[in-house]
Amino acid sequence: MIKEQFTKFEPKVDAFKDKVIFITGATDGIGRSLAIEAAKLGGKVILSGRNKERLESIYDEITALSNSIPTIAQLDFETADSEQYSSLADSIDLNFKSIDCLIHCAGILGDRSSIEQYNPGVWQKVLHVNLTAPFVLTQALLPYLKQSKQPSIIFTSSGVGQIGKAFWGAYSVSKFGTEALSQILCEELGHTAARVNCVNPGAVKTKMRLAAYPAENRDRLRKPEEILSPYLYLISDESNGITGKCLHAQ
Ligand code: NDP
Repeated sequence: MIKEQFTKFEPKVDAFKDKVIFITGATDGIGRSLAIEAAKLGGKVILSGRNKERLESIYDEITALSNSIPTIAQLDFETADSEQYSSLADSIDLNFKSIDCLIHCAGILGDRSSIEQYNPGVWQKVLHVNLTAPFVLTQALLPYLKQSKQPSIIFTSSGVGQIGKAFWGAYSVSKFGTEALSQILCEELGHTAARVNCVNPGAVKTKMRLAAYPAENRDRLRKPEEILSPYLYLISDESNGITGKCLHAQ
């Protein structure tokens, strides 16, 4: 039934007017496409990524395509320390006071190898970037999300976040953790207006998918802009009351 709601969901022009939307992984793939669409719908997007040039490139693209002026929040999830998270929170406090939506799209694949062969250093990095950093960022931004009337937190999961499959190693474990983090936070915020959900985007034509399946025919894959409806629905006020779910884009 929720699938019906988000597949039929057609946001009105300016649907996200006045909404402050923080997007990680905004420099590529799904996050980049979502940042452009959210800005076109009037959202004030905060673009989070690790690379200054790539952030400036998406900033320029958004200002050329919409009336929205984005904000850049440069943060490398691999190396960010508590001081950087706290200075990010200070700048949100100063410039926005509240955040309506936090969307976690950043992620890395790591190795596609067996547990027996898996490199422990890569394992640690994948769990850090995909799971620990989103937790720390969410914790840092929660005070500002709580200032919104209808806050929405969206994590990006995966098919291997619900079913363990051979050779998906740390990536799969990080996505199981993401689903758990989302469900725990949903319960803990149950007494508030906040909704917390996951999106499983399915197979999408991005550099991560190419790295995971280098030999597959890419023409059959959906492009990032074709799988955005569950994200757009969860940003919008039409999804009020929807919490603790994992929405599948395909
Ligand atoms: P991409 O590889 O295209 O984009 C990943 C994004 O994460 C990029 O913006 C990248 O930045 C950013 N990122 C990577 N490392 C860091 C870091 N250390 N600090 C901050 N940002 C970082 O991947 P997708 O768009 O495909 O993936 C988006 C989400 O969707 C991920 O969570 C992924 O797990 C999930 N997903 C994707 C599927 C698919 O088929 N594509 C299927 C299921 C889930 P930079 O531009 O600097 O590299």
